[in-house]
Amino acid sequence: MNPSNRINELSQLSSGAWEVFEKSRELINSGIDVIELSIGEHDIKTDQRILNAMNESALDGNTGYAPVKGNDTLRKEIAERVTYQTKVETSFKNVIVTPGGQAALFAAHMAVCDHGDIALYCDPYYATYPGTIKGVNAVPKTVQAKADDNFQLSETAIDAVASNAKSLLINSPNNPTGVIYTRQTLEGIAAACIKNNLWLISDEVYNTQVWNSEHISPRSLDGMKERTIVIGSMSKSHAMTGSRIGWAIAPEELIDHMINLATHTTYGVPGFIQDAALCALRLGKRIELEISEPFRRRQEIAIKILSTQNILKLVPPSGAMYLMLDVRDTGLTGISFSKLLLEEQFIAVMPGESFGESASGHIRIAMTVNDEIFSDALNKIIDFSKRKKLKKDSLR
Ligand code: PMP
Repeated sequence: MNPSNRINELSQLSSGAWEVFEKSRELINSGIDVIELSIGEHDIKTDQRILNAMNESALDGNTGYAPVKGNDTLRKEIAERVTYQTKVETSFKNVIVTPGGQAALFAAHMAVCDHGDIALYCDPYYATYPGTIKGVNAVPKTVQAKADDNFQLSETAIDAVASNAKSLLINSPNNPTGVIYTRQTLEGIAAACIKNNLWLISDEVYNTQVWNSEHISPRSLDGMKERTIVIGSMSKSHAMTGSRIGWAIAPEELIDHMINLATHTTYGVPGFIQDAALCALRLGKRIELEISEPFRRRQEIAIKILSTQNILKLVPPSGAMYLMLDVRDTGLTGISFSKLLLEEQFIAVMPGESFGESASGHIRIAMTVNDEIFSDALNKIIDFSKRKKLKKDSLR
């Protein structure tokens, strides 16, 4: 029996992107000590207070089916947080709770794209984007943000590919680049969406990890509230990646459709997980700052260490838990650099090519190990790049 073409295509899409990551997992499983800088997972665990709330809720019997749309108390808490963060009046009716941001990304595309519709997405992009779009039978099409423009997405680039498109997916703070879109960039994106009648799907799962810049939600820009779906998550802000809880914020009518979709797909999020998320959100801004602090600190460490050389060029980091390095001076592509770095130094990073054409010749470093190991890894990466550059120059 044959599986569907859709699922076959999805499997082909993801295999290349994760090759280095899978190789590093193999090495780790065979007992080799690999410095793992390839995945967006904190080096701390979920806070004890949140786990206690989860435990108490489950022991209180909250283990049956929970409301598919999310508990109203949690939806209200999320709506208040969004109102506070963005100054856009948001009701609990604008919120659906989902099993993570990933499920919200899928639901958002299901809600706005029909079979065969063109769905635009930013490049560089988070690795699941094209597959998510294909999964709903829409046609993925990239909008390139250029390294030379510091990976800001331009209105002209969107306009150039937007005819007949239905939606645009953006991500700021951005995975993989660590770039935050400026107000000017977001205003250009908003103008392009209005002009081309696009839904905007704004992935803001890193909105609590902001260093030297301001995060602006495009939903707050003129004319955008009615055409924007914001994707949120507890994964990155509260170190709750394994709890699988996130949300979508959208116009009420669209949320009603997404609730209907959830009834036929996920059937909601476990009640004890929702109670843990409620507890986490009620802990306030302090815990969000505590959780983002190590990444703020490590990007500063990286700026200092990398300033001692000029082979690897750091894309100025503004947010999220990643750094992007331009490695082209070594003569290697992002893929060959990452493969050789793993083989020769046992350091796992992600090749930029896994995140799209615009990030080729780059590598992504997740700042997810302690400061000492992180500094050590960066120094080794610098030495490695010096050797590769020497080799390149000697071949001239
Ligand atoms: N969007 C981006 C940009 C991400 O990096 C991730 C996870 N790495 C997600 C969405 C999905 O996050 P989750 O499903 O854990 O909320």
